[in-house]
Amino acid sequence: MKLEVLNQIKSCESKHAPLSMCQAFGSLRVMMRVEGIVPILVGNAGCVYGLDFVSHFYGARKSILTPVYTSADLTNGRIEDRTRDAVRETIQKFNPRVIALITLCNEETVSLSIDAIAKEYEERAKSDPEFPLVVPMHVPGYGVKSHAEAKDIAASQLLKCLAEREGVPARQANTASTIGEVFPADPLFLEQLLARMGVKLVAHIPSRTIADFRKVLSVGVNITLHPFYTKTCAVLAKYKIPSMGCTPVGVEGTRTWVERVGKAFNVKQSVIEEIADVESRAVAEVFRKDPIRGSVIVAGYEGSELMVARLLVEAGADVPYVSTNIGQTAFTKDDETWLAARGTTVVFRKTYDQDVIAVDNLKPDLVLGTTALAAHAKELGIPSMYFTNIFASRPLFLAQGAQTITDLVNQAIGRRAAYSRVMNFFADDAEETAPEADYAFVGD
Ligand code: SF4
Repeated sequence: MKLEVLNQIKSCESKHAPLSMCQAFGSLRVMMRVEGIVPILVGNAGCVYGLDFVSHFYGARKSILTPVYTSADLTNGRIEDRTRDAVRETIQKFNPRVIALITLCNEETVSLSIDAIAKEYEERAKSDPEFPLVVPMHVPGYGVKSHAEAKDIAASQLLKCLAEREGVPARQANTASTIGEVFPADPLFLEQLLARMGVKLVAHIPSRTIADFRKVLSVGVNITLHPFYTKTCAVLAKYKIPSMGCTPVGVEGTRTWVERVGKAFNVKQSVIEEIADVESRAVAEVFRKDPIRGSVIVAGYEGSELMVARLLVEAGADVPYVSTNIGQTAFTKDDETWLAARGTTVVFRKTYDQDVIAVDNLKPDLVLGTTALAAHAKELGIPSMYFTNIFASRPLFLAQGAQTITDLVNQAIGRRAAYSRVMNFFADDAEETAPEADYAFVGD
């Protein structure tokens, strides 16, 4: 990357957020999917409305409950009574298996103690397995830096409360679990791959059932597929379940994944080598047949941007800049080092303005970004797509993932002419430059 651009990005003092989702949505989204869990969102009407709307926009099939209170209740302490009433009524009316008790910004500011409320039900929940488990989750926007990390808070809190209530089941040495919000086919591919090494994938979370969360507490090794699940891994570590952070993405990533997982499960070296060879060669073959020619900026807020960037680089793309909302973790180190060695600038806890500097100065052939950044790039006539929806709805791992992503990126880069024509069409001198209208509008 040009030095002056890099300096501009590094010295950018803007505090503008990268326009991501309300952080609490991460926790809510994970909890909304699990059968038997009822979420109680303790937040002001505006926040609850927004989160409720977005949850159902994304296809949630249950209601969000919330205590009704006034602004005065926040300062006179009655917010606590209202929350307590909401929990009691929810137990009486619905008797769910788990209540996810989630607090937002205002309620955290006035120190609403949802831990104390949850504790009031703790003894009863321990002695009666049918009684609902109340799981507190603190996700104020000012305390949790990204909605990805709020997913980690939800998963870790649920695991912690399950373990405290039910104890930890006996460890099954040759079993694994995976953690990450990935395309549903990816864990199935991993299950088959692990089976060839004699390892059984018994659970993938976040999932639809509480039973899967419970199973994770008994595995030999947990594999985290996204680097921000640090709190969840810390809960598992407390129960002596080791976690490794690694994803089979790209040629090297696939080889490393098979080698590390095989070693963690004491798989025979010859078996590891054979599987690692077959799988990484299959990915290499995809890149050989369908290389990516062009420069791509990857600037999402999901936490999976670094692994996507690695895949693109191996496929032949020039990736000068990668940014994400999450912070550095022990699990981001390998990808960051790998990308830096290939000239990619990696920015954690990025701001929207840093992304704009990168796009404006580097003028890539494609931007995979947040909604606002994708819109900005389109105004410049640069093909762009919303990172989250693109990568949440496609496989990413092994050869299947490599093929899907290279096809998608090559198609997107190939649309540059259409983007330019649309830009010209809407330019001030549109009358003179408007084309003969032989193209279709291309969106993401
Ligand atoms: S005020 Fe806090 S809880 Fe409400 S929408 Fe904003 S970040 Fe989310």
